[in-house]
Amino acid sequence: MDKPYLQHRYLLSFDSRDIGHIFTDVLVIGAGAAGLRAALAAAGNAQVLVLTKGQTTQSNTYDAQGGIAAAMAESDSIESHIADTIACAAGMGDESVIRRVVSEAPDAIAEMIEWSLPVDIEGGKIALGREGAHSADRVVHAHGDATGKYLAETLIARAKDHENIKIFENCFVVDLLTDDGDGAVVGALTFHSRYGLQMLWAKQTILAAGGAGMLWRETSNPPCSTADAVAIAFRAGAELAEMEMMQFHPTTLYIAGATRALISEAVRGEGAYLIDREGYRFMGDYHEAGELAPRDVVSRAIAAHTAKTGSTHVFLDVRHIGAERFKRRFPQIYQLCTDFDIDIEADLIPVRPAAHYMIGGVKADVEGRTSLPGLWACGEAACTGLHGANRLASNSLLETLVAGKAAGIEASAAASQTNAKLTARRITSVNPHSDRTELDLADIRNSLRSIMWRNAGIVRSGARLTETKEIIGFWGSYVMDKEFFDPAGWEVQNMLTASMLVVECAFRRAETRGVHHRKDFPETDPAWARRQILRRTEQQLVVT
Ligand SMILES: Cc1cc2nc3c(=O)[nH]c(=O)nc-3n(C[C@H](O)[C@H](O)[C@H](O)COP(=O)(O)OP(=O)(O)OC[C@H]3O[C@@H](n4cnc5c(N)ncnc54)[C@H](O)[C@@H]3O)c2cc1C
Repeated sequence: MDKPYLQHRYLLSFDSRDIGHIFTDVLVIGAGAAGLRAALAAAGNAQVLVLTKGQTTQSNTYDAQGGIAAAMAESDSIESHIADTIACAAGMGDESVIRRVVSEAPDAIAEMIEWSLPVDIEGGKIALGREGAHSADRVVHAHGDATGKYLAETLIARAKDHENIKIFENCFVVDLLTDDGDGAVVGALTFHSRYGLQMLWAKQTILAAGGAGMLWRETSNPPCSTADAVAIAFRAGAELAEMEMMQFHPTTLYIAGATRALISEAVRGEGAYLIDREGYRFMGDYHEAGELAPRDVVSRAIAAHTAKTGSTHVFLDVRHIGAERFKRRFPQIYQLCTDFDIDIEADLIPVRPAAHYMIGGVKADVEGRTSLPGLWACGEAACTGLHGANRLASNSLLETLVAGKAAGIEASAAASQTNAKLTARRITSVNPHSDRTELDLADIRNSLRSIMWRNAGIVRSGARLTETKEIIGFWGSYVMDKEFFDPAGWEVQNMLTASMLVVECAFRRAETRGVHHRKDFPETDPAWARRQILRRTEQQLVVT
C-alpha cells in the first residue's frame, strides 16, 4: 500500500491542551439502528453520548425498505434461517455468529414491537415477506417498504427519552484517540459545526458509523456512507476484515441524473419479473431460481445481460401485481415511481445494479469486541462473519439489533469496571506541512467513485485492480499529505483510504466467491475459504 495512506496517524495536527474536552462513560459513533440499539443497551448502567455527523434521520437504517429477517412463521424454523445464511455466505460465514444472531431474531422483533415498532399485520399475525435466497417467508416489515424509517424513529424516540443518553447531531468524528502506550481507544477527536474541534474522552467507544456505498458511483446508500468507520479504525490500528466484499444490489431505479433509489428485493418476492428491452424475461438463462436467485447472481446476470444486449439497464415488470396491492405493500416505491411519471400498471421500471451493503469492516466478534482495547464495533461498520462472502437479504437490520444490543451491554460492563475518573490526557499530532499542488476535491471524489464502479465493481480483474491501485495511490499522494478543516475534505481522505483497502484486498483474493467476482479467476478456490485481515502498523500495511 502506498505510503501516503500510512504516514499520518491522525488527519489533523493538534494539541489536546488547545481543545475543549467532554467526558462520557460510553461513546457511540453513529445513530443508525446499530448505534442506537447499542446506546439503549449501554444506558442501563452508563452515561452514553451518541454522535452522528448529520441528523439522526440520515443513515442507511432510515432508508432501509424490505425488512428484518426472523424465522417466525409456523412453517419456518431457526435452523432453516441458519442454513440459508450459511449457504449464502459462500463458505466464509462464521457459524457460531450466525447461530447467535439468527436465534435471537424472534426476540429482537418482539422487543421492537414492545417498543412500538408498527410491524405490518395480516390475518391477525405478523406479515412475513419473501426475499431472494430465503427458503421461507420471514421478512418482518413496517408500513410496507418503510421499515427502516419506522425502525429508526422507534429507536430515536426511545434514545431521546432516556435520561442517560445524549445525542449530538452534526458532530463529525475525525479520528479515534488512542493511548500511546497500549494503543487502547480512549475516545474521539470530533468536529461540530457550531463548536469546532472537541476531545471526547470515553471509558469505552462503540463504532457504529455505517457503510461505504459512496465509494462507488452507483449506490443505493445515502450520502453519509463514506466509509469513515473503516478509515478511522484503520488509522487507529484496528484490524479490518473482508474489505473486498461489497454487495451490489440488482435493482436501483435507473433514471439519468436522479439518485439511485432502491427498488427492494421484496418487489421480486411479490412476483415482479426482470425483463430486457425486448420484453424477454432473462433470469431463467442465468439461474434456476430466476428473479429470486441470490443478489450477487442477479446483479451479475443483469451486468452480463446488459453487456450482451448493449443496454444500460433492464426493467422490472410489476404490471401484473396490480396497483392496489403494490401501493399497499410498497408505498414508498409506488410514490417514487409516481414522482418519475412511471405508471406501474402500464409502464416498466428501469433498473440497474448499485453498491449496496459493505460486508467488510472493522473485525469484531458478535459482541462487538475489536482488536483494540476500548473499541467496540457493530452494524454495517463491523465485520463479524455473519455474512461471510455474501449477505442474505434482511439479515443486516437483524444484525444491527442483536449485535448492537450485545455491544452496548459489553461496553457498558467494561466501562463500569474502570473505576478511575476520566481525565484529559495530552495527545499531540504533528503532520508535516505540504506545499504540493492542491487537487480539486470534488473532482477526486467523482473520479474515485467512477473508477471504483468500473474497476472494483460487480466484475473485477487483476489487471484493472492493479491500474486502480496506481491511480488511487497517485491521488493519495496529493490528498493524504494535506490537512483539511471541514468534513468534505476528511470524507474524501476516508474514501480514498477505504477504496485503497478494497482494491488491495480484491486484488489479493485471486478467486471468485460470493459477491467478489474475478473474471481472471472465475472459479471458487477452496484454499481461499479464509478471511483477509488487515491492519496498519507504523508505516506498513499488514495483511494476513
Ligand atoms: C436503501 C437501502 C435499503 C436497505 N434495506 C434493507 C432491508 O430491507 N433490510 C436489511 O436488513 N437491510 C437493509 N439495508 C441495509 C441496512 O439498512 C444497513 O446495513 C443498516 O441499517 C446499517 O445500520 P448501521 O446502524 O450500522 O449504520 P447506518 O444506519 O448507516 O448509520 C450510520 C451512522 O453513522 C454516522 N456516521 C458515519 N460517519 C460518521 C462520522 N465520521 N462521524 C460521526 N458519525 C458518523 C451516520 O451519520 C449515521 O448516523 C438497506 C440499505 C439501504 C441503503
